Amino acid sequence: MENKKYRNFILRNYNDLPQLSALSDQEREAIGVVGRVLPFKANNYVVEELIDWSNVPEDPIFTLTFPREEMLSKTHYAQVKKLIDANDEAGLKQKVYDIRMKLNPNPAGQEHNVPMVDGIKLHGMQHKYRETVLFFPSQGQTCHAYCTFCFRWPQFSGMNELKFAMKEADLLHKYLLKHPKVSDVLFTGGDPLTAKASIMSAYIEPLLTKEFSHIRNIRIGSKTLAYWPYRFLTDKDADDMLRLFEKVKKAGKHLAFQGHFNHPVELSTDAVKQAIERILNTGAQIRTQSPLLRHINDDPKVWANMWKEQVRQGLIPYYMFVARDTGSKTFFEVPLEKAWNVFRKAYRNVSGICRTVRGPSMSANPGKIQVLGVAEVRGEKVFALRFLQCRNPNLVDIPFFAQYDKKATWFDELKPAFGEEEFFFQKDNLLGKYEKDIDFIWE
Ligand SMILES: *Cc1c(COP(=O)(O)O)cnc(C)c1O
Ligand code: SF4
Repeated sequence: MENKKYRNFILRNYNDLPQLSALSDQEREAIGVVGRVLPFKANNYVVEELIDWSNVPEDPIFTLTFPREEMLSKTHYAQVKKLIDANDEAGLKQKVYDIRMKLNPNPAGQEHNVPMVDGIKLHGMQHKYRETVLFFPSQGQTCHAYCTFCFRWPQFSGMNELKFAMKEADLLHKYLLKHPKVSDVLFTGGDPLTAKASIMSAYIEPLLTKEFSHIRNIRIGSKTLAYWPYRFLTDKDADDMLRLFEKVKKAGKHLAFQGHFNHPVELSTDAVKQAIERILNTGAQIRTQSPLLRHINDDPKVWANMWKEQVRQGLIPYYMFVARDTGSKTFFEVPLEKAWNVFRKAYRNVSGICRTVRGPSMSANPGKIQVLGVAEVRGEKVFALRFLQCRNPNLVDIPFFAQYDKKATWFDELKPAFGEEEFFFQKDNLLGKYEKDIDFIWE
């Protein structure tokens, strides 16, 4: 395997890329303008091995990583361009900040899920669902390239007050010791695998001791297989990272690698295939997830091919998400009915082996809500929905209904069906009543 040295392309040096001659002047300009608002970073693997430059700007991986004019509103685009042309750095900074604040930088009340230990707010963690604690290692608050649709973008763009990051593994461990109902720790970011293996060891190895016998599953959410598979092949500490995965397995725990793949192209290179093989050889499993994105993967054939290819390589399809209500959502959004149709048509075209996948799912404030489909009940057209995850776990898997709405793209836009005032979970403060530390309820 070639020893590929990581090199990134950001606003400062993207014009050095010879591949960009495939673009028009206006498309090149758009990278500089939109890239001021939505963080931009690509790398030599993405540019050389994933993007088909004879197919830009439509190429899905180009759209996934390079800003395009339509990702900002016409007004915002014109405002930013004017300030760039006028060389007004101070004005530009303020304008970029104002626009970002309008783009809903912190969707679905993520700030409400921040836990406490010994009276200290743990900004590097979220604990929303009983079994699973999210942890954001401060060294993993970046990615090997940036997705143009990403909702984590305030973390990359210097908006520090929104940065969910925490320095000390200590507080994580303290919190977990106090919460015996937690069985899963999910390392996320950014991309936690931008951190060194030694850093990940400092967080993970203590969890392998007897004290933490309640922690069964170590989960790592990462886009590294798709954006920089050399992390597991030829990077300096590639072998150390794999050895850490092995240790988890040897300690009798499950290592779940949650890989983000947005398009089958990301599964097609020799590098990614070898990286997958090396990870699976450690005893880890790889589950996959992706949002459904217009211009990138809003086609059932793309999903069916992606799931089939994943299964061929030993991966387990896990989630299809609805794109979050943030950033350049208007460019990427897909109405819920269409999302369900893409899911359904892909799902019915694969065998049961691929149907471990669930979706389309919205990570909304009350929980992860799956669109089960459009149905007609006594003459009223409705969406059938259910919680795949909920702040109150007792509400998971109970079907409920919303009025059909052709244009709706997110749960907030939906109203209860059958003339009801509220959804079932809004009655009697059902969501708020639940305490995370109560026992499991079997009745
Ligand atoms: C998605 C998510 C999880 C993990 O949910 P699983 O269904 O177990 O994969 C945990 N916490 C938060 C806040 C999430 O959004
Ligand atoms: S890899 Fe994940 S966290 Fe990183 S930019 Fe893409 S969507 Fe955002």
